[in-house]
Amino acid sequence: MSLNLKTIAELRDGFRAGEFSAREIAADFNAAVEAGRALNAYTVETPELALAAADAADAARAGGELKPLSGIPLGIKDLFATEGVDSTAGSNILKGFEPPYESTVSGKLKAAGAGMLGKLNMDEFAMGSSNETSAYGPVISPWRRTDGGNTALTPGGSSGGSAAAVAAGLAPGATGTDTGGSIRQPAAFVGICGIKPTYGRCSRWGIVAFASSLDQAGPMARTVRDCAILLETMSGFDPKDATSLDVPVPQWEAGLSSNLKGKRVGIPTEYRIDGVPTEIDALWEQGVEWLRDAGAEPVKISLPHTRHALPTYYIIAPAEASSNLARYDGVRYGLRVESEAGHGTTLDGMYAATRARGFGAEVKRRIMIGTYVLSAGYYDAYFTKAQKVRTLIKRDFTTAFADCDFILTPTAPSAAFGLNEKMSDPLAMYLNDVFAVPASLAGLPAMSVPGGLDGQGLPLGLHLIGRELDEQGVLNAALAVEERAGFSARAEKWW
Ligand code: GLN
Repeated sequence: MSLNLKTIAELRDGFRAGEFSAREIAADFNAAVEAGRALNAYTVETPELALAAADAADAARAGGELKPLSGIPLGIKDLFATEGVDSTAGSNILKGFEPPYESTVSGKLKAAGAGMLGKLNMDEFAMGSSNETSAYGPVISPWRRTDGGNTALTPGGSSGGSAAAVAAGLAPGATGTDTGGSIRQPAAFVGICGIKPTYGRCSRWGIVAFASSLDQAGPMARTVRDCAILLETMSGFDPKDATSLDVPVPQWEAGLSSNLKGKRVGIPTEYRIDGVPTEIDALWEQGVEWLRDAGAEPVKISLPHTRHALPTYYIIAPAEASSNLARYDGVRYGLRVESEAGHGTTLDGMYAATRARGFGAEVKRRIMIGTYVLSAGYYDAYFTKAQKVRTLIKRDFTTAFADCDFILTPTAPSAAFGLNEKMSDPLAMYLNDVFAVPASLAGLPAMSVPGGLDGQGLPLGLHLIGRELDEQGVLNAALAVEERAGFSARAEKWW
């Protein structure tokens, strides 16, 4: 098997056993990245950085000083600031921004020996569910429908580059971020795993902010084990992030066990919604059976405020975004447009011209919604109300977790859709996050694991939500699903 199709655990163990060198691994992935350009997964390729880390790993192996991720090259979502390498959050307004610093999470991966293959394409400022809002153009999923001709499909979003790269063998693993599903939905669309840990597990320092009370980094990789390996390195207290949790990082990989005896899996009644394809409902039921087979007892639970989660999210996230994005003023980072017809030549004119030119349509829509819900006249009606509903949604989960240990739902209400299918209808796009958003609002760990293929040959994901800080419980339940689903399908190579 070529090295670029191996899992992180296989690469790590084979490298340690002397079956291949880190340089061979990096060279294989660099070649795959180059050969995979048609997918538009990478915005920047850094083959030299991958090779440099590989050489250091080979030297470390010779000297007997291996680090946890020695020999493993990774793709980094363009939302993470990477020292000296373009970090643009998929936006024109940050084009050319080379941070003089490294984000905590990517810095931890580097310090653990991982190399960087490049920066991964994404929806602009992580706002989107299809990677189509990127200033670099959409990422194309490696998957094709069996009966759909050559329709180009979305890999999901906002971490679409991460998803496509891992699914196509252009990286063994990647970083993602998840504000309202951006790790889990793309993972489901391309048949890989992705976990959003508890809010505060991974430092947000050096990650371009979208909605600060929701943003969390997490890994995307082919297997549950690979996610556990990466998450262990990415997590940990960071004094530079005031919302970072000062709690120990468990050894999740060592703790993996698919024996779920004595556990109860909650099935939320409110997640049965109209319009979801029967195949997705059937997979959900199959998932319950797999978990029962692993020893878990299914219990019906109720999350009564679920139907308010999407509107709540689409008030809170834009509100925070409108504030966070105020910093892009043409003075401090990236693009500056001095003046433009209609904006005048004053300082205000420069701000307006820069923002008008630098931001894409979806980002502008969010800034306008966010500014509106925070405005003096509407603050209480929208923003304060949404905060209250958020508390009720969180409370629903607390109540439910008295009766169960983790919750199973589908990851998304559809399989991957075609490019341009939903771009003209933002509400239809927002609806794709319906199952992912409640766990984000509640700050809970949640993971997508591949469950099977639909009738068109496209991957579908199952979604596990756990108690606060119980990533181990989520990983273990996902492992039980993974073992039983036996998902080994890969996109047929056309690129
Ligand atoms: N699709 C959601 C949105 O557009 C979630 C994005 C994310 O998690 N970053 O806001």
